[in-house]
Amino acid sequence: MQKFEAIIIGTGQAGPSLAARLVEAGMKVAVIERKSFGGTCVNTGCIPTKTLVASAYAAKIARRAGDYGVRVEGEVAVDMKAVKARKDAVSGQSRTGVESWMRGLKSATVYQDHARFISPREIAVGKEVLAAEKIFINVGGRAAVPPMPGLDQVDYLTNSSIMNVDFLPEHLVIVGGSYIGLEFAQMYRRFGSAVTVIEMQPRLIAREDEDVSDAVADILAQEGIDLRLNAECLRVARHGTGISVGVDCAAGPPQVTGSHLLLAVGRRPNTDDLGLDKAGVAVDKRGYIQADDQLRTNVPGIWALGDCNGKGAFTHTSYNDYEIVAANLLDNDPRRVSDRIEAYALYIDPPLGRAGMTERQVRERNKPALVATRPMTKVGRAVEKSETQGFMKILVDAGDKRILGASILGVGGDEVIHSILDLMYAKAPYTVLQRAMHIHPTVSELLPTMMGELKPLSTETPAQAPPRPAKAAAG
Ligand SMILES: Cc1cc2nc3c(=O)[nH]c(=O)nc-3n(C[C@H](O)[C@H](O)[C@H](O)COP(=O)(O)OP(=O)(O)OC[C@H]3O[C@@H](n4cnc5c(N)ncnc54)[C@H](O)[C@@H]3O)c2cc1C
Repeated sequence: MQKFEAIIIGTGQAGPSLAARLVEAGMKVAVIERKSFGGTCVNTGCIPTKTLVASAYAAKIARRAGDYGVRVEGEVAVDMKAVKARKDAVSGQSRTGVESWMRGLKSATVYQDHARFISPREIAVGKEVLAAEKIFINVGGRAAVPPMPGLDQVDYLTNSSIMNVDFLPEHLVIVGGSYIGLEFAQMYRRFGSAVTVIEMQPRLIAREDEDVSDAVADILAQEGIDLRLNAECLRVARHGTGISVGVDCAAGPPQVTGSHLLLAVGRRPNTDDLGLDKAGVAVDKRGYIQADDQLRTNVPGIWALGDCNGKGAFTHTSYNDYEIVAANLLDNDPRRVSDRIEAYALYIDPPLGRAGMTERQVRERNKPALVATRPMTKVGRAVEKSETQGFMKILVDAGDKRILGASILGVGGDEVIHSILDLMYAKAPYTVLQRAMHIHPTVSELLPTMMGELKPLSTETPAQAPPRPAKAAAG
């Protein structure tokens, strides 16, 4: 048996940084990774998808070159092999960076195999048994595959297997109209595929406000993406060389036929094959490890970080988990998960930057609030760039004047949101932002203007929009 002071399982977005901190603190550490160093974000998540999104953006701008007075001779063609090679290079650089970082740590031993608890202090890795008083779980998650009739009869893609695609699917059918599905939908449409998105909810990204969902649907529909909402009784079958998906929508044909199927219906934690029962670590109904505000599990000496604890599903939440655990263990700083403000982005183009509460959540508080909105058509920088889709919305507490939340759907929205997020962390009133001098011309320069245009948020809940007719969104 090999003895360590700490064992880290998984090299996602928390494990590697924690390993480095523990080594720096003088500990003997074991780092275990069963597959690709860097985990989801580096290999099948954020980094490759945003690299692909950049290629798709280039294709879109090339097609729109005429709008900018630039002549591109001939048809714009996307070389999928080159697109994939670029993605592989960016992702690969990150993966090898994480691996050489871990292997270069002085008092760390790296194991490349599957880890499994055999007791609260012991982990089996291949033929070896490792023991430590402190064990940190950073095993992440994988694509959930729903029990859809016929799925065992057809080939389908997930966010992982689509990373190997180096050709253009003729017609990509995506089941799931949320964050992951929509990024793939827009990028493949821009690469040149026909794309249909099938969603069981009456609207896309249903946790967002209705105006945000509708604007996103319009952006995608304008690019020719077919949206099939309110889909019921999903079932799949082989259809020639492709697949057909039975949808039973309120409107539109009852079947969608395509060449390839991508499942983007959520994630599940990698906790089912970790031997957690041998350690006595508690999980919830969906398999997420139960952890407290400092990410300690119910078993002393075992922590859960990243997607597997169900407290976040993002790279930044996983990295923040590392910061919280390191601060508590090594810096005598009692940081907590509840200190953080919800924030994320949806990387369609234009992107959606989100911070704090939605309008619906603000209404549910039943306290006076203020709201300001501005279409991107009234943002000079967006007009100059000919990228005027989307809008900005900021919500404020009418009492203490603090910002409660914001949705920035528009060019630069993923960056602009941080101006608001930092003010929220500072717990400062909106008047600070109102009086700030921002740089011209930027999207952010309109934030102080918006703070001068705040109006009371009506107490009436906006009526639930009727389900969109199946093809209406496709324009
Ligand atoms: C398509 C897609 C796009 C995304 N885009 C974004 C984005 O733009 N921004 C963002 O913030 N987030 C994004 N995410 C989410 C983000 O990738 C994850 O939240 C992030 O990777 C954090 O994961 P993690 O640290 O929990 O672990 P992961 O990154 O999932 O890593 C876990 C690691 O543990 C290893 N492992 C698992 N079980 C074992 C075991 N038993 N033994 C040994 N090793 C094990 C795995 O092989 C893996 O390497 C995206 C996700 C997907 C799927």
